[in-house]
Amino acid sequence: MFARIDHLGIAVESIEDALALYEQSYDMVVVHRETIESQGVEAVLLDVGEGHIELLRPLGPDTPVGKFLERRGPGIHHVAYQVTDIESELARLRAAGVQLLDETPRIGIRGSRVAFCHPKTTGGVLTEIVEPAEGH
Ligand code: ZN
Repeated sequence: MFARIDHLGIAVESIEDALALYEQSYDMVVVHRETIESQGVEAVLLDVGEGHIELLRPLGPDTPVGKFLERRGPGIHHVAYQVTDIESELARLRAAGVQLLDETPRIGIRGSRVAFCHPKTTGGVLTEIVEPAEGH
């Protein structure tokens, strides 16, 4: 079962320009900043109640987010649902016919374990499943 929306991933050209909106205009608080080489992004996490906004700046044009920006421009990139047991959740989704881009979880932001689902089997929405690290 999905416990809640963990975060929305937003593709941006510039973290600093995006922070002018999210920090200054929206008054959100940055709680984490990290370069995730395996996903080809610099990511910034802001708090919204118990959920988050995840700003994603591609490390290069050939990364998944770099290609997304070139095709679609800045905007909502993915939705992430939080779970407590990612292995059983992935097995359940697989059995339900959802195609997984990650057959086994990989390490995401802030030490979480994550896996992405192919948007062609999720109604066009790139969907991330997140099991937070202890304490988050
Ligand atoms: Zn994400």
